[in-house]
Amino acid sequence: MKKPLLFARELVCSALKAGGLAVDATCGNGHDTVFLAQQAGEQGTVLAFDIQPEALSNTRRRLEDAGFSDRVTLIAQGHEHLTEHMHGRNADAVMFNLGYLPGGNHAVVTKAETTKAAILAAVGILNHGGIITIMVYTGHPGGKEEYQAVRETAAVLPQREFWVLEYKFLNQQNDPPLLVAITRL
Ligand code: SAH
Repeated sequence: MKKPLLFARELVCSALKAGGLAVDATCGNGHDTVFLAQQAGEQGTVLAFDIQPEALSNTRRRLEDAGFSDRVTLIAQGHEHLTEHMHGRNADAVMFNLGYLPGGNHAVVTKAETTKAAILAAVGILNHGGIITIMVYTGHPGGKEEYQAVRETAAVLPQREFWVLEYKFLNQQNDPPLLVAITRL
């Protein structure tokens, strides 16, 4: 498990308590989905999005192994459709892990336009005290453009309502991942 991911989880822990609602916007191999399901607890709810059947089946298997299937809804649709799946509910935590599926098809990546739409959708359904974490990778084609889109989307959120922070390595070579975190006050 890469360290920056763990850092995102630490931030999520402060916002997502037992019985809460969380969204995994990019479930991939399901590591974050299992983490969110554990953190939300038996009474909690997790919605997990991915557009690749392989990702959804990997996540399903991981949830079954962990015994968390009951509290998670897997959604085979892009995260830009988040709002229609909330049914008026708000989220305590939304996690994005951008880029491609580790061990999967590197040609299928999250894209600037849809990522931007999904972040705005997540901002629109975030509870007070809730958090959005976005792991951003810039080393693959389109990655730098996506990072720009994330920054532009997050940087203009009103400062009275949101804290927007960026965590980045100052001492790592070769396009280290970045973490952007949006907290609703
Ligand atoms: N969190 C995962 C890794 C995510 S990889 C883990 O811990 O293993 C990024 C995932 O985003 C890929 O599985 C890819 O299929 C998915 N993806 C790409 N575009 C998407 C979109 N528009 N909506 C939701 N998921 C998307």
